[in-house]
Amino acid sequence: MKTIALAGNPNSGKTTLFNALTGSRQHTGNWPGVTVEKKEGRLKNHEDILIQDLPGIYSLSPYTLEEVVSRAYLVKEQPDMVLDIVDGTNIERNLYLTTQLLELHLPVVLAVNMADMVRASGNTLDLKKLSAVLGCPVISISALKKEGLDELTAELAKPQPTGHRPDSFEPQVLQALEEIQKLLADKVPPQSLYWYAVKAFERDERVLEELHLDPEQTRRLEAIVTKVEKEYDDDAESILTTQRYDYIERILAGCFTKRATASSLTWSDKIDRVVTNRWLALPVFVLVMWEIYTIAMGQTVVSIGTMGTDWVNDVLFGEWIPNGVETLLTTLGVGDVLSRLIQDGIVAGVGAVLGFVPQMLVLFFLLSILEDCGYMSRVAFIMDRLFRRFGLSGKSFIPLLVATGCGVPGIMASRTIEQDRDRKLTIMTTGFIPCSAKMPIIGLFAGAVFGQNAWVATSAFVIGIGAVVVSGIILKKFKVFAGEPAPFVMELPAYHWPTLANLLASTWERGWSFIKRAGTLILASSIVLWFLQSFGIVNGSLSLVEDNNVSLLADLGRMLAWIFVPLGWAGDMAWKATVATFTGLIAKEEVVNTFGVLYAGLGEVSEEGTEIWAAVAADFSAVTAWSFLIFNLLCAPCFAAMGAIRREMNNWKWTLASIGYMCGFAYVVSLMVYQIGGLFTGEVTFSVFSVVAFALLGLLLVLLFRKGYSGRDDTIHTAMALESGK
Ligand code: GDP
Ligand code: MG
Repeated sequence: MKTIALAGNPNSGKTTLFNALTGSRQHTGNWPGVTVEKKEGRLKNHEDILIQDLPGIYSLSPYTLEEVVSRAYLVKEQPDMVLDIVDGTNIERNLYLTTQLLELHLPVVLAVNMADMVRASGNTLDLKKLSAVLGCPVISISALKKEGLDELTAELAKPQPTGHRPDSFEPQVLQALEEIQKLLADKVPPQSLYWYAVKAFERDERVLEELHLDPEQTRRLEAIVTKVEKEYDDDAESILTTQRYDYIERILAGCFTKRATASSLTWSDKIDRVVTNRWLALPVFVLVMWEIYTIAMGQTVVSIGTMGTDWVNDVLFGEWIPNGVETLLTTLGVGDVLSRLIQDGIVAGVGAVLGFVPQMLVLFFLLSILEDCGYMSRVAFIMDRLFRRFGLSGKSFIPLLVATGCGVPGIMASRTIEQDRDRKLTIMTTGFIPCSAKMPIIGLFAGAVFGQNAWVATSAFVIGIGAVVVSGIILKKFKVFAGEPAPFVMELPAYHWPTLANLLASTWERGWSFIKRAGTLILASSIVLWFLQSFGIVNGSLSLVEDNNVSLLADLGRMLAWIFVPLGWAGDMAWKATVATFTGLIAKEEVVNTFGVLYAGLGEVSEEGTEIWAAVAADFSAVTAWSFLIFNLLCAPCFAAMGAIRREMNNWKWTLASIGYMCGFAYVVSLMVYQIGGLFTGEVTFSVFSVVAFALLGLLLVLLFRKGYSGRDDTIHTAMALESGK
């Protein structure tokens, strides 16, 4: 059996090619020990060849989990051949990985993908010349249009010579690598020696750990590396990166011709002229998001999401299921308490959450269009420009983007950020972004209090990003976080038509995990909540109560409700809002689930919405709705996300600081919204809290505009000096 590893940058077309080459004969699973997808399949018409789809990687330096997995596989397992797929419309950036793969001492076949788009762009690539300089077969293909696949299959089936090392580095570096190879000669297998030398030169932490150098060897290695660093006046990793890109530029100069005239912009370039324009980019982005929220959650003729949700709420969970359940319960002769548990607890609680499924599916579908067609990469690029001004890199935007689905992978995505301080800052703020579980909370208030206005959801998104930016500005001015942001290189793939199958798959994947949670976690807590709100202490003994205001849950809620008095959570809704906020820590859908259980049967079904919505509308004013919504969007995330913060920070102090910061920030913003907003609407009279609110606003402005810490960032240099014994 011959194994071929399929490697390439994210979005280069790996999955498409893998499917085309293997047909339906494939297995998916996870890589041992991690939840990164592992796929393998047999090459069509060549049963003895196994293709292994590696997770998308930009380089063989382990910044992300995917990169760690792929690198471990390539270096340790040594497949028989590497099929490197590059995006032909972005060849320069993609060849960066190729230069590293060629150092692995494995046979490499290079597939230049997107031939159709390359042709359309008018650029030309001389494959023969490229193949000659790289010393490996180079084949032009289109994975999507199934062009060139036979030729590629033929090359894969043939035995290929071992890839020859690219001529990327200058003599000083090569000299240093020579010396390092001597140093490591008895530690690693000879075929991997060069690769290990390169990684040791870069001071790659994982490799150094694995090598177990003794102090004398460490000292010699450090001396070799520092000498080169002095000569170039740059750090080792940047030296290699620069020389690799210089090398790519040199080879492409010989075989790549860009279409000459400037007037021949591709349509992709034309779109980018508007979409990434310095002045238009942000307004366009806000407009796009607003349009998406209008379709998914608004109240217009095009709001398919809302129509679906209305139907589920009014018909499915408004009539069919309750009526059906009632009939069933009566027929079965089920007792009063149990049928109330089922109707007011389970059906109302789970139903309140499931009602938002249509809106969420539409939202996910539209977001996957943006991702699939390439617009989201533009957004990261636009955000880099914005974030950079505040000392954050666009790299911090990727975790935020992931967090719109779920905060847990969002927090994990922060691993791509190399600088520790920026990574910490990103972990601390990723939870501000409204994740999919927070969408029902937004939907509930948008529906119950704000007449389905699409601006509610849009502003929740803007408030989330705003909280990140404001936190970035404020925290960057403290010494622990100060420093230049990391450079952010990213490719802007040409716009693609998204494929329907991809869109449906990713929509379903996100939607299904939401539905699954409603059936398990949310269901279980509906039951617990219902019991706690149906029983109370009456005359010293536990008994069933009619009014949940005297229930156990109300007593519990009231014990903590004082915390939120300054935020305007008052009257009967105070304990309900408090309980909802705390159950929201289990999972954010719980907030709506809790309202579903607590408000069941309290409102009237009407034209405007469900009975629960009506009951919520009676309890919340616009200002208190905002104060509640903002607090729940920005405060500590759910337990799963807190766990992710703990894992990524790998330190309790930082974990607690992050959670404390989020809660504090949420509290301050909600306090200002209620106290200052309330003064305008007349709900609030001027009190000591108003003074506090204005004082906090002043403090926030001072923190925003004060001069930051600007000392030189000496830590790295000091650490290096210590290590080399100076
Ligand atoms: P992966 O991230 O490397 O797995 O990339 P995918 O296989 O998911 O492909 C990314 C996008 O590129 C998808 O929208 C594909 O439909 C598209 N794509 C892949 N190959 C081609 C191609 O040859 N031509 C064009 N025009 N699009 C392609
Ligand atoms: Mg893929």
